[in-house]
Amino acid sequence: MNRPSDAAIDALMDELSRGLRADQLSRDPEKLAAYGHDESDTGDFPPQLIVFAERTEDVAFVLRTCQAHGVPVTPVGARSGKSGGSLPLYGGASLSLERMNRILSISTENLTAVCQPGVITGELMRAVEEKGLFYPPDPNSWEFCTLGGNVAENAGGPRALKYGVTRDYVIGLEWVLPSGETIRVGRQTIKGVAGYDLVGLFVGSEGTLGIATEITVQLIPLPRFVKTALLLFADVNAAAKAVTAILHSGILPRTLELLDDVSVAAVDGRGFSFPPGTGAAVLAEVDGNDEEPLFAELARLGEIATQHGATETLLAADGPQRERLWAARRSLSTSLRALKRHKISEDIAVPRARIPEVIAQLKAMGAELGLTVATYGHAGDGNLHANILYDGPHERAKVDTALERMVKLTLAAGGTITGEHGVGYAKRAFITWEQGPKVVALQQQLKALFDPKHLLNPGKIFPG
Ligand SMILES: Cc1cc2nc3c(=O)[nH]c(=O)nc-3n(C[C@H](O)[C@H](O)[C@H](O)COP(=O)(O)OP(=O)(O)OC[C@H]3O[C@@H](n4cnc5c(N)ncnc54)[C@H](O)[C@@H]3O)c2cc1C
Repeated sequence: MNRPSDAAIDALMDELSRGLRADQLSRDPEKLAAYGHDESDTGDFPPQLIVFAERTEDVAFVLRTCQAHGVPVTPVGARSGKSGGSLPLYGGASLSLERMNRILSISTENLTAVCQPGVITGELMRAVEEKGLFYPPDPNSWEFCTLGGNVAENAGGPRALKYGVTRDYVIGLEWVLPSGETIRVGRQTIKGVAGYDLVGLFVGSEGTLGIATEITVQLIPLPRFVKTALLLFADVNAAAKAVTAILHSGILPRTLELLDDVSVAAVDGRGFSFPPGTGAAVLAEVDGNDEEPLFAELARLGEIATQHGATETLLAADGPQRERLWAARRSLSTSLRALKRHKISEDIAVPRARIPEVIAQLKAMGAELGLTVATYGHAGDGNLHANILYDGPHERAKVDTALERMVKLTLAAGGTITGEHGVGYAKRAFITWEQGPKVVALQQQLKALFDPKHLLNPGKIFPG
């Protein structure tokens, strides 16, 4: 596919301006440059035009018009994606959903909420918590990512260990197909099994099968108490073994977040100072409606950690202390970026029993190739973010070798190439390694059924 000519974009712009206001269309070079990259560090692919949708009808109009003009169009939320999903690889239009940012309703009777796709995830979390309800999916980017982006990537987060991921909460969608036709899939009820699970298909479709314009999520009651502990270790292998042991102990924490030595050093002093000698940490959290049993659970977690070499267990005494720990954890991605000029954040997931072995292999690989590899993530569910930090293009060949080796060792351990960030552009070369040509071909047929001209977010998920 070639980038459309300037004349093709002029003609598209001309037609779009008949249905949209001037401030909904931008060809400002600075804006185009900004919409050409995300948090994946996979390069710059500026669109030729940005369209800011404000209503479902705008989205439908833009998709219809792009089809008629044969111009590619790529949906975009907050551009916090780490797999390059929102990058317009072949130019054309970026269709921004950020102005469709209203929470339309929260029902305390039905335990549901209906949102536009540009709602910031953290705003939904806060709004339902004020009513005693809980929306558990909590990507660490919740302060700036959008619900539409979460739906497209089937985002997870620390609490996925106990509560699951975005797909487990989305029950209905208003969805604009690549042709511009608007449909409603799913339901407003908590239970329901009629027909194929199109909600399940669309959640995680990475902006390639259509655009979410309204999202209905189910909610659960907000647990009354949350208790947090930081388990400290001298090295990451001991911490990984402790995570596995905790999961066998009969306790299901809501988070078990692992930080290795590089990660600990990167966040040390940013709101929280680690004792000298700390080589790894696990941020463990339990929740429930009664306070006393939670202290008992944390004490048990502390005992198991000590048996596996923990040097200390620190309990967060109150809300502000707990928030300081989480702020350090959430700043990790940015703090690591400060260590070297480039960072590639891998997002593998492995069966939980293989966590210690895979972490050891990642460390050994980094040492052998002379690369800094920082491993952290939602270790409780086997989802590890192995970050390769490097200085510039002269190291790129080594980085590519490391990425390939990482994928191979993950697959050899029975794992998957992405636990929550999606395949997007960054990992499209590897999906066939994991799923095999038949399964990839079947998915490509599905894509062709929805989008025969391959104009919606082309070049994503599948090999080029
Ligand atoms: C510091 C940091 C921490 C992070 N932590 C986590 C984490 O814990 N868990 C996790 O899962 N991710 C995490 N991420 C990755 C990222 O935030 C998520 O993938 C998020 O879901 C992307 O949302 P977005 O609004 O930024 O989407 P974008 O990056 O703009 O787009 C992502 C994809 O969604 C598509 N899209 C956007 N809106 C729509 C729509 N309305 N309809 C259809 N497709 C659409 C785009 O085409 C693209 O393919 C993190 C990122 C950062 C920078």
